Amino acid sequence: FGSVVKEPPMHIVHIAVEMAPIAKVGGLGDVVTSLSRAVQELNHHVDIILPKYDCLNLSNVKDFQYKRCYFWGGTEIKVWFGKVEGLSVYFLEPQNGFFSAGCIYGCRNDGERFGFFCHAALEFLLQSGFHPDIIHCHDWSSAPVSWLFKDHYKHYGLSKARVVFTIHNLEFGAPLIAKAMVYTDKATTVSHTYSREVSGNPAIAPHLYKFHGILNGIDLDIWDPYNDKFIPVPYISDNVVEGKRAAKEALQQRLGLKKSDFPLVGIITRLTHQKGIHLIKHAIWRTLERNGQVVLLGSAPDPRIQNDFVNLANQLHSSHGDRARLCLTYDEPLSHLIYAGADFILVPSIFEPCGLTQLTAMRYGSIPVVRKTGGLYDTVFDVDHDKERAQAQGLEPNGFNFDGADPVGVDYALNRAISAWYDGRDWFNSLCKRVMEQDWSWNRPALDYMELYHAARK
Ligand code: ADP
Repeated sequence: FGSVVKEPPMHIVHIAVEMAPIAKVGGLGDVVTSLSRAVQELNHHVDIILPKYDCLNLSNVKDFQYKRCYFWGGTEIKVWFGKVEGLSVYFLEPQNGFFSAGCIYGCRNDGERFGFFCHAALEFLLQSGFHPDIIHCHDWSSAPVSWLFKDHYKHYGLSKARVVFTIHNLEFGAPLIAKAMVYTDKATTVSHTYSREVSGNPAIAPHLYKFHGILNGIDLDIWDPYNDKFIPVPYISDNVVEGKRAAKEALQQRLGLKKSDFPLVGIITRLTHQKGIHLIKHAIWRTLERNGQVVLLGSAPDPRIQNDFVNLANQLHSSHGDRARLCLTYDEPLSHLIYAGADFILVPSIFEPCGLTQLTAMRYGSIPVVRKTGGLYDTVFDVDHDKERAQAQGLEPNGFNFDGADPVGVDYALNRAISAWYDGRDWFNSLCKRVMEQDWSWNRPALDYMELYHAARK
């Protein structure tokens, strides 16, 4: 990679509809921010173009200022600028009210809203005299960038640019993703195993020659147990036991759980079919049977699922109020305390393109218990079964995993994990220390993206 680093800086523009921490729904928002920061660290020039939602969390935007306005398609678009986590962000505010809906997703005309945004973003680049080397778009929501660019901008003012398209989740907006795969110069998805799992999909299969799996990383500054205002005692791997004990107590205190040393299983997730809802429910009961504590932080976009969990929460809080807490909301600060205070983070996804929760868990010395799929397979190596597979990656085993999508599978991994906690605390503590020292940052993946950006320009 040496040659890549020495080459002149590239200008990369992300056109995206999510960005952590100001407009985050899931992993896509994390990746836009943390990939951009990693590439900027390598001395490249990165800009992000985002809709100016009325629900933006502006307290995390520095130097927020109005820039100017322009017209596209008969609509006036106001341009705002600000710094988010050290990144330059241009916020587009069309005066047609498309982004004044109180939410990021969930309008009946999401396709139309984001299609409009994509076209307005390209028009902004043209009218502002930007000449990016790479325009990077993400998922169905900014997929239209790829064909709008080829049809309207490539030969009309933005000729230098190449388009890179990243699939964070193939489940949503399949027709848009299929069309983007045709038009984009390079496509990626967020782990090797997921790239293989989807390689037979008719949207992907014809384009394998330009399709690559690049694992996501986590931002070590945003997720840093040594410098985290949401946890009580800063820690590194050397004092992981002390740091996690304090975090567990703070978590128990905050949620009104019994303050005693139970094995604590944390679950932090969107509650959707993808995330293995039936396995999550089963694991809650199994953990309680094994005399553990469970904390679930999750919210369901589907009101029926949300209701279902509200009922489960009522049931659990009355039968096991000192050992189970379901927080059915989105709460970033609480997520930090759970990552730090849990012994295990459970991720039993039915499919998982990459998954960030297992990586963040390890950064905080929590042991991942996961289903073997997609990026979970690529990053979690079972202490009993995957020594060789881990060593092939230069790693030691770091968690527990299972096959199948039934309770037997999740029991197999969870029972071994909880037994390991009860049977050998020294061994368990050394495992926590070890996972904290593994590198799941962007250091390596950012270089892979730079190589891809260069290849796109050849
Ligand atoms: P996905 O993108 O499918 O939702 P990922 O594992 O890639 O799954 O990313 C999920 C991200 O969202 C993680 O950073 C996780 O900590 C965060 N997250 C999920 N649910 C919640 C919640 N209820 N409250 C706070 N953070 C959450």
